[in-house]
Parts: sequence; C-alpha cells; structure tokens
Amino acid sequence: MAPRDGSTHLSTEHARRTNVRGIGVSPGRAAGPVAQLAGAVPAPSPHERLAAGDDVEAAAASVAEHAAAVAEGLSTAAESAEGEAAEILATTAQMAADPTLVQSAQAKVREEGKAPALAVWEAADAVAEQLSALGGYMAERARDVRDVRDRVVASLLGVPMPGIPQREEPFVLVALDLAPADTALLDPSKVRAIVTAEGGPTSHTAILARSLGIPAVVGAPHALEVLEEGRTVLVDGAAGTAVLDPSAEDVAAAEALATHVRTFDGEGRTSDGHRVHLLANVGEPAGAAKAAQAGAEGVGLFRTEFCFLDRNEEPTVAEQVKAYRTVLAAFPGKKVVVRTLDAGADKPMPFLTDTAEPNPALGVRGLRTSWRNPRILDNQLTAIAEAAAAESADVWVMAPMVATVDETEEFVAACNKHGLTTAGVMVEVPSAALMSGPILARAAFASIGTNDLTQYTMAADRLLGSLASLSDAFHPAVLRMIEETCRGGAQQSRPVGVCGEAAADPATAVVLVGLGVSSLSMSPRSLPDVAAVLAATSLQRCQELAQLALGAESAEQARALVRGQLPVLDELGL
Ligand code: PEP
Ligand code: MG
Repeated sequence: MAPRDGSTHLSTEHARRTNVRGIGVSPGRAAGPVAQLAGAVPAPSPHERLAAGDDVEAAAASVAEHAAAVAEGLSTAAESAEGEAAEILATTAQMAADPTLVQSAQAKVREEGKAPALAVWEAADAVAEQLSALGGYMAERARDVRDVRDRVVASLLGVPMPGIPQREEPFVLVALDLAPADTALLDPSKVRAIVTAEGGPTSHTAILARSLGIPAVVGAPHALEVLEEGRTVLVDGAAGTAVLDPSAEDVAAAEALATHVRTFDGEGRTSDGHRVHLLANVGEPAGAAKAAQAGAEGVGLFRTEFCFLDRNEEPTVAEQVKAYRTVLAAFPGKKVVVRTLDAGADKPMPFLTDTAEPNPALGVRGLRTSWRNPRILDNQLTAIAEAAAAESADVWVMAPMVATVDETEEFVAACNKHGLTTAGVMVEVPSAALMSGPILARAAFASIGTNDLTQYTMAADRLLGSLASLSDAFHPAVLRMIEETCRGGAQQSRPVGVCGEAAADPATAVVLVGLGVSSLSMSPRSLPDVAAVLAATSLQRCQELAQLALGAESAEQARALVRGQLPVLDELGL
C-alpha cells in the first residue's frame, strides 16, 4: 500500500484540494474535527522557583486542585470506556487521586519554594524510581505514575494533555505515530479516522486501525503541521488522503457510506463461483470468538507468540494447551492454522532471542530459534497436539521464516512425530518463494506472509516509516515472488494461501486470487470488504488483473492499473 495518486473515487474538486497524502492502510471515509495527540509534556526547568511575593499556600493548593481535576477527568472517561481501556483509565484516576503524591509535591512548594509543576515532576519521579527499584509488577506501575505526573503538569502549565484526547464528540485523531500504550485507550466510537505522520502499512497503528475498522492514513509527512487542531478534515483510508474543510456534499457521501454496514455470509467466492476461503488472523486467543462471529471460514493464522510475549520464561505446556483450546473451540470442525512461535526481530522474547544481534530481522528468528532450543518447539508441538485432540477443529500447523528445503523436512518430521499431519510452511523469505516446488513436495501447504516477504524482497525494514514507500506488497517484484510460490503449489497440488496484511486490501486480494492463491486470511473486520469485491469479480478478471500488475514497473503503477479496472471499489468506497 503506497502513496496513491490516481484516486478514482473522489470528486475532482476533492482531489484538487487534497492537503495531506500518505499511505491508505484501513479503507473507509470519515470526516470530523482534528484532535491532535499531544506530544510529550516537557520537563519543567529544575530552576523553576516561586517568584518573590507569590502566595505559597495558593501555589500548594493549586497542586491539589489540578491533581483532583485530572483524577475526575480520568474517572469520567473510565465510565464511558469499555474493557481494558476502562480499567487503565480507572487505575490512572486512582493514582492521580492518591494523596501521597500531592502531599510530597506540596512539601516541595512550601519548604523548597519550587514552582508547582517542578514540584509535581520531582515528587512523581521519586515515587516512580522507588517503584522501579522494587522490580516486577511494582516496576510496571512506575510508568503509570509518570503518566499521572505528565497529566497533572500539563494541567498546571495549561498545555494539551498527553495521550489520546478525551472528547465528548467524535474526532479525527492526528499524531506523529501511536504507541501501543496509546492504542489501548483508543475508543472506536470516538475516533472517526486516524492520520499519522509516521508508520507504514504493517505498523502497529495500521494493524490496529484495520482491526477496529477505523479509516486510517499513515506515513503522511506533514500531517501535524497541515491538519490543525479543530479544523474539519475528510479522511479517505483507501486513497490515503486527508482534505481540510471538505464540501458538505463530500461529507454527506462519506457519512452515507459509513452507515452502510457490510457483513460477510461465511463463504468467499468470485462472481463465477470460484471458491476463495476467507479466514481470520487471530492474535490474542480471546479474538477467536469475534472472528467466528464475523463469519470467518476458519483461522488462517493464529499468532501463538501472543501467549509468549511479556513473559520472562516459556509458558508451561498446560498454559499453552489452555490458550490454544480457546482458539480451536471457536471453530469446531473448521480449519485453524496454528503458527509455531515467531520470536525475534519485531517480536523479541528474552528467554529465546538475542537482543544484541546487529540485524535482528536477518538473525535467529522464527523457526531458526529452534536450532539452538529444540525443546521449546517440541513443547509447543506437544501443546498443540494435546489441544487438537481435545477439540474438533481441523488443525494445521506451520512454521514461520522457513528458508530451505531441509528446514521444511525437519519441521514436517517434528510435527508428524506429534501426530500433527497437516504441516506446512510460511513463505516469507524469497528463497522459500523461489524453492516452493521442492518445499511443497514436503509440506502440506504454504501460507505467504506478505509482510515479511515484502520486507525481504525489497530489503526494507517493515517497521521503518521512512521506508514505507518500499514496503508495498503491490510491487511487481513481490507479486512475482507470490506467482512463483503459486507455481510451486500447482506443481505439487498443494494449496497456497496468504496471511499477510496484503490479503486484507480488496484490490490486492483480487490480484492474489488471480495469481493462484486459494485462501486469504485477514483481520476479521476486513472480511466483508474483501468478500464483496471478490463477489463482484470473475476468476478470469482476477487473472487478467494479476497479469496487468505483474507487467507494471512499480507498485504505484500496478495499483493504479488494477484499481482503474475495478469500479466496484469506487462504488463501495474502498
Ligand atoms: C507476515 O510476515 O506477513 C506475517 C503474517 O507474519 P507476521 O506479520 O506475524 O510477521
Ligand atoms: Mg512474518
């Protein structure tokens, strides 16, 4: 997904007035007032003292007043939030209301003549340091204390509150980028669209926006300067544009599309009936039930590392069985592809990966971690087999980051030893794409991870916003890798699916089907859009469009050629 110049579905007037252009990563159009995510609160100067003649008691009282106002604001926000966000807000509110911090800051005002903001800053830092020194759970609370510190200081200084703005009315969130901690507080009923200056198609922000169904544009360099606080903006998450002061007609059209909720009937096919299995990507086990509700035909990628992240040691087999069973239980009788642990690079795990590697993306990651630690893979396969025996789902297992025929052979043998007979590989490395024939002579199936396959084909770190224009699965070089993988699959009569983010983009999905991909796995939110576009396109048309894209010279050209031939995208606002 790259900057798109040839947006076909915006009015000419709209296109002329495009103020910010980036990478459209979550389709849909929405308008609203801009609310910028405030940057970090600056540390007050250590020399900020009360001026001669200042009322010391009034200054001390202001600390308590602002802390109380912050606590109240957070409690109100907690009441209207849900789930994890409500919990985080309520905990932070309690911390802001804690008298210890206020009293210690007031002492600094009264006894040392420090300005209220500096006093709060220093008092909170002292508490945070004590907590950090205690380690474990207490150390994690240090971050919450610093969050409260920033809020009270922002309130005292009259600067914007850090973090996701808390507003009565829905808004368009504009930020440099979103940190994972910000996104926990993101309320989809309030955030109509997201525009970030940094980030690429596989960034945290992009994945989150897609999973919440919020239109989003990332990698829009001047977003913060151009999209000023309070101005009305219309965001097009498919075209990758944001327009200030849109016409009433464009806003009405966007709103009409937003109210039209598409659903997926649970069976993907092209207009002439060619079956394309539409599956869900699942991370946290609890997400499996939601994926089933969304009509997913099964799970095409269960990222098991979610059960391992934030752990200092490997979870026990029993813990793993419990987590895996939650996912399998949501899909009785249906296919669930369980990916073995993908540790390393963007998913470091202290008990398994070496964080000092100079090039973690090219290092000991994915299946390679089992070379030195075969026991962890063995334990995981034991847990998967146990979970599979206890549930009725059709369990497939695959390994991430496979590069060679030998690795395939060893992995398949390890799975078979545990009675897991449908063992496959992810194709994420160009060598595996080019060797898919012999690889698929050993493996039962392949699933293409386009996020990593794009990263390695284009030699562009998927996490670097500055390289986002290269991180584009629509690039003909990446499409040729996919074509080659499908050729190997056809030779060996083995199914080839796609489970990277490219599967969730309806225009890319059409091309993938045309290249020979038989299943697409994506965030459950994307299922209705991909299903609707496939249902309007024949297999032959998919094949023609795939050839058109393969013959292009750049990702932009390939995308523009394909989109230009798919008027259904325009009709559906995708
Ligand atoms: C991929 O690389 O496309 C993929 C699906 O795996 P992950 O994003 O978890 O690396
Ligand atoms: Mg990957």
